[in-house]
Amino acid sequence: MTPETLQERVQTLSQTFFGRPFRHQATFNSRLKTTGGRYLLQTHHLEFNPKMADLPTFDGIIKHELVHYHLHLSGSGYRHSDQAFKQLLNQVGGARFAPRLMPPKPSRPRWTYRCLNGHVIVRQRRIQVEKYRCGQCQAHLEFIGEVRN
Ligand SMILES: [Zn+2]
Ligand SMILES: [Zn+2]
Repeated sequence: MTPETLQERVQTLSQTFFGRPFRHQATFNSRLKTTGGRYLLQTHHLEFNPKMADLPTFDGIIKHELVHYHLHLSGSGYRHSDQAFKQLLNQVGGARFAPRLMPPKPSRPRWTYRCLNGHVIVRQRRIQVEKYRCGQCQAHLEFIGEVRN
């Protein structure tokens, strides 16, 4: 998700679920660790955790921050403990808590090769390109690089 699509997503959800426009800025902040997002009381901007942007529950996180946003701007109870907050959160189906992120898996190196016809081959171990041919077309291989994921 790009910063532009994030802004659009927040505007769309605001209009659809709250019936009110989001007139401030929504940005990604990679310093957020375990929180999915936050509402900045001073500026009314929203910040979101880019690591959570691909989760299916990300809309719920956006709605949660929009509940803070709209309640604060309209002078209602915008804190987690406020009744108005709990009610509106329920009503729009916002996330109660930020989803827990999986701890990053220890990454394993993989070695990537490509044949002259463009077939890509990935191996756990390095291979000697002189000795191997492409499994699909028997062409020679060349080493592209190491990838981690
Ligand atoms: Zn909150
Ligand atoms: Zn090939």
